[in-house]
Amino acid sequence: MALARTACGGVVKKADKAKKIGALLDELYPLPAIPLDHQDPFTFLCAVLLSAQTTDKKVNQVTPALFARAPTPAAMAALEVAEIQALIREVGLAPTKAKHLREMARLLVERHEGEVPASFEALEALPGVGHKTASVVMVQAFGVPAFPVDTHIHRLAQRWGLSDGSNVERTEADLKKHFPVDEWHRRHLQIIYFGREHCPARGHEAERCPICSWAAPSRKRTRGL
Ligand code: SF4
Repeated sequence: MALARTACGGVVKKADKAKKIGALLDELYPLPAIPLDHQDPFTFLCAVLLSAQTTDKKVNQVTPALFARAPTPAAMAALEVAEIQALIREVGLAPTKAKHLREMARLLVERHEGEVPASFEALEALPGVGHKTASVVMVQAFGVPAFPVDTHIHRLAQRWGLSDGSNVERTEADLKKHFPVDEWHRRHLQIIYFGREHCPARGHEAERCPICSWAAPSRKRTRGL
């Protein structure tokens, strides 16, 4: 049985802790919206790919023009990389992302009849698409259970004593174990929203945090992760 020591020194089952965290997240973010604007799985995949090391707000600023010019894989594949780069120049890593967008679109046409495949393996075979991006698309665009782990989720899962923080694969496996499968699609969004709202760039104030105040193991309460 997985046990965790809380800030107040008590020992609780991790399953009970996850349940309490889930209830609080449902209170704080009852209907967590997908923060990236999109029209379909293709535009969503593009937006998720663009969001690496960039804010969702910035992605949402550039995608209207990009999707107006290239709303389908065939249209994106027909553009020059330089034109894509010009359309997305305000996001981080624009040169690399422009190359990935065009090649990804070309492969969707070549391998998948211009459709986004609902398959982890097929998605992860596309340029610029790692396991996290594939997981976001699978769970949000296709409703296939997945638990994408970004920086906030990795950090908070460790902070809350639900995982040991050794690597993102371990965090993903632990969160999938602690939260029921029908919750994954909203839990990952809720934890991202929580991290954005409550985790400043530096310094922890665990006592003021609605979850860290009771869920963080005591040895981590006063030091950064
Ligand atoms: S104490 Fe605050 S800053 Fe630290 S992990 Fe918790 S929410 Fe984030």
